Amino acid sequence: MQALRAEDWSYRGEGAANIVVSFTGDQASNPELEGKVLRIRKSPVVAPSEPRQTFSTEQNYAYLTRLIAPLLGDEYVNAGQLVPLAATFLQDLDQRIAAERPAKRVQAARLDCAGSAAQLLRDVGRPFIQSHDQSDTFCVEIKPKWGFLPTSSFIHPSNATAKLSKCRYCMHQWLKVSNGSIDRRSRYCPLDLFSGTRHRVERALHSLVDVPQNNVRVFRNGRAILTGDKAPPADSNSRAYIAELDRHLVDLVPAAADDSDAQPPHVQTFVSLLAEILLQEPLLQRLQAAQRLDHLDIEGLKGLYDSVIERHPVGQDHWLWDGRFDAPEWSRVVQQALARSSTAPSLSVHDVAALSLDEKAAIIAEYLLAATVKDCSIMVSVQRLSTPSEDPATHFKHITHSGTRFRYHVAVVDLDPKLFRNIPKYHRDDGEIVQHYMDHADDSTCYCSGPAQPAQ
Ligand SMILES: [Zn+2]
Repeated sequence: MQALRAEDWSYRGEGAANIVVSFTGDQASNPELEGKVLRIRKSPVVAPSEPRQTFSTEQNYAYLTRLIAPLLGDEYVNAGQLVPLAATFLQDLDQRIAAERPAKRVQAARLDCAGSAAQLLRDVGRPFIQSHDQSDTFCVEIKPKWGFLPTSSFIHPSNATAKLSKCRYCMHQWLKVSNGSIDRRSRYCPLDLFSGTRHRVERALHSLVDVPQNNVRVFRNGRAILTGDKAPPADSNSRAYIAELDRHLVDLVPAAADDSDAQPPHVQTFVSLLAEILLQEPLLQRLQAAQRLDHLDIEGLKGLYDSVIERHPVGQDHWLWDGRFDAPEWSRVVQQALARSSTAPSLSVHDVAALSLDEKAAIIAEYLLAATVKDCSIMVSVQRLSTPSEDPATHFKHITHSGTRFRYHVAVVDLDPKLFRNIPKYHRDDGEIVQHYMDHADDSTCYCSGPAQPAQ
């Protein structure tokens, strides 16, 4: 590949740890970069007082390709390739994109100009092949969060009533309203999305459209048409942003015949199309199984962490926390997780005390894999095909819905490794969320769907 030039790349967006830029240069002279994005690490503008442990781009890539891809399926994990980047490219690019980045983000962090590599990825939000008889490409990004209720016997009896009956996401909503990070609770419950039941999956998707927060975004040919920022504040009952979404969706899906629903007709068809795609793919089941690798709940895991730390202070060379994701021990953890039946092993306090250091490390490793998957995003891209004939682009999947044929693609993104040393923070966060829920929430007005009810 020829040397990259900063002027060929445009700012796309950023999260806490990475900035994404998309290729907007001349496609004829750079055909291998067409439809690609670069995901580049950030580094803080002011060096933190104590050095923070992070993983390098190379370690992230090894984690994604060697551990996460086998767990979730290669077809869903968009790992792309690692490309070397010159320091001059990174410095030029950092200057070029500064004006487009949110001011608060610019003050906090810049591109890591000492970084030597970045991930070059297929842009999953971009248009599929475009021609006169196909619609624009619509892409939905969903942050599903935790789709299970814990069953661990390590949960303290005083927390058990709340934690075994309300999911983490729904409990967290109460705390977020209190501390002002959101202005109203969403009716979205991850247990609905992961339920495998059509009406519950549809209910989850409708709730996401109603109160998007940062859990859903919709793009049309890569441009955002629904985000949390577009939704009105809690004191407004305006549905204008949903009407706007509906006007976009006119170009993708037919109107629903049944207009009894609370949503406008094209949003209704769109939600039912998405639900059908999610139900016919095994992805949500795999994500849920991976999340359930959190066997002990953080309450049990924290004790295990403490006992490991006691004998193996962090900083000492060990496969669990030094980022050697190509270590055979990590692969064994994944193989073991895949071989296991869907029911997690239930471990008692007594069993855990008898475990060897390696067995404890393996349980913590499974927890950290689960933590990655609890934080992922799902991207579903859809395009309407006007002719019912065979699709020449054979690498897409297809679905017929409401008498219309679509091609689609599903991917999982935001799958970074989680730090071993974050476990005490996970424990504190959990304590705060659960305590706040028990002190301030009203069970009867919590939107959580709770444990599955036996079939009638
Ligand atoms: Zn819930």
